[in-house]
Amino acid sequence: MSDVLQRLVEELSTGSVRVVDLTIPLGPDTVVIDLPSIFSPSKGVTIERISCYDDAGPAWYWNNISLGEHTGTHFDAPIHWITGKDLPNGTTDTIPASQFVGPACVFNVEEEVAQDPDYLFTPQHLEQWETQYGRVPSGAWALLRTGWSRRDGKESFINEEEDGPHSPGFHQDTSLILAMERDVLGVGVETVGTDAGQAGGFDPPFPNHSIMHGAGKLGLASLCNLDQLPPTGAVLIAAPLKIVDGSGSPLRVIALSPT
Ligand code: MN
Repeated sequence: MSDVLQRLVEELSTGSVRVVDLTIPLGPDTVVIDLPSIFSPSKGVTIERISCYDDAGPAWYWNNISLGEHTGTHFDAPIHWITGKDLPNGTTDTIPASQFVGPACVFNVEEEVAQDPDYLFTPQHLEQWETQYGRVPSGAWALLRTGWSRRDGKESFINEEEDGPHSPGFHQDTSLILAMERDVLGVGVETVGTDAGQAGGFDPPFPNHSIMHGAGKLGLASLCNLDQLPPTGAVLIAAPLKIVDGSGSPLRVIALSPT
């Protein structure tokens, strides 16, 4: 047996490695992204009872569920974006499972976002982070800790104003560095999507989606509990449902974190 896995099992049982749940609850109240009304919206979550220890099934309880692929804490596959549509192994059923596990780099921009909800994580800020914690390794998950997951209710979470939603994200130059020079697995955010709220008006529109998925990288949206992770040292596991030709999937995201 691998010494590392043996130690992992021991440290999980003693609690010196913790399992941190980075997933929000998935139900009818889960907030789904809003698009301008000229585009088709994604469905929220519907849960329909099949039986609950009753005439329809006397000894068992189960439900049918209906929801969009991009609902709640969810995974964006490369094929989600037009820039990634012709890449090989870009759907939820074809991405190699090895890409679902990687070291977590957590960029804490809570202070900046408290001052400015439209804050974009800049290359300068990434450089500062790397001076302090080391270069983002190849195959890492790049996680943007904004504190946004503590916002309660749709109004506050989407933060819609007359000119559209206002929420933080990545500066496109940072997305480029992370995708091309650092070769990350992908990015993860606390907001409803991996681009900033105002990114529909950027040039190009939705630059993080465009850059990441064009480079075959992945996305994770609506994460929580990033404040429970160290800047480096945790391992993230984010395995989507194996939906045939899927563009994404709700999923349970967990991190193995040192205490
Ligand atoms: Mn998505």
